[in-house]
Amino acid sequence: MLPELEALLQLQRYDLKLMEAQRKRDEIPRRREALKAALDQAKAAHERAKKDLEHVRHERRAQEKEIEVVQSEGTKLERQLLDVKTNKEYQAMLHEIAALKSKRSDRETVVLEHFEKEEAIVAQAKQAEQRIAEEERKLKAGEAELEREGAALDQAIHSIKVDRDQVRPGIPAPLLARYDRLSGTRDAVAVAEVRKGACGACFKSLTPHAAQEMRRLDAVHQCEACGRILIWTEGSAA
Ligand SMILES: [Zn+2]
Repeated sequence: MLPELEALLQLQRYDLKLMEAQRKRDEIPRRREALKAALDQAKAAHERAKKDLEHVRHERRAQEKEIEVVQSEGTKLERQLLDVKTNKEYQAMLHEIAALKSKRSDRETVVLEHFEKEEAIVAQAKQAEQRIAEEERKLKAGEAELEREGAALDQAIHSIKVDRDQVRPGIPAPLLARYDRLSGTRDAVAVAEVRKGACGACFKSLTPHAAQEMRRLDAVHQCEACGRILIWTEGSAA
């Protein structure tokens, strides 16, 4: 294979490596944001639980106050019962006392339900607190790790660029211009090797004549289907 074609293939390897490193580098801020978002979510869940708890406690206290009112009404009636003169009045008052008792019992049930709700919410809040601690730990560790990864990628990107820039001068200008134009529009794959008598990128078969010519002349062809620069390499005959 001509050295310029070898250089062209090498250039593409570097450019693909560079693209991959750049893609990973660009992901780092998004990954950091995801870690922060998870922490924010945990904090929001904790805030929600605290508010819910406040609400349920407030409702429960209102019910307890109601019970106190009902209870004192009942006590008052029970005292008055002693002074009642007629049987009819007596029966009516007993009836009233029974109604108050039932009202009180209903409220007590509601209070118990509220206590149960409170317990569940307290557990939720505790869980949320644990999650906050966990997410804070993850964020801290993750940020350090992302910092390291970012620095390593910056280093890799720099070194690939140096290698790439060393290869470029070894490629004739017209071929390089074609490569640059194609790599911008073909997913960065501008050069394809012939594989099994076809374009290694889009798999369009070459005519036997074209294949033979490429092999004999070590020439650069253009894939008639995808337009990529087609070259014949050692593996092409397989
Ligand atoms: Zn092709």
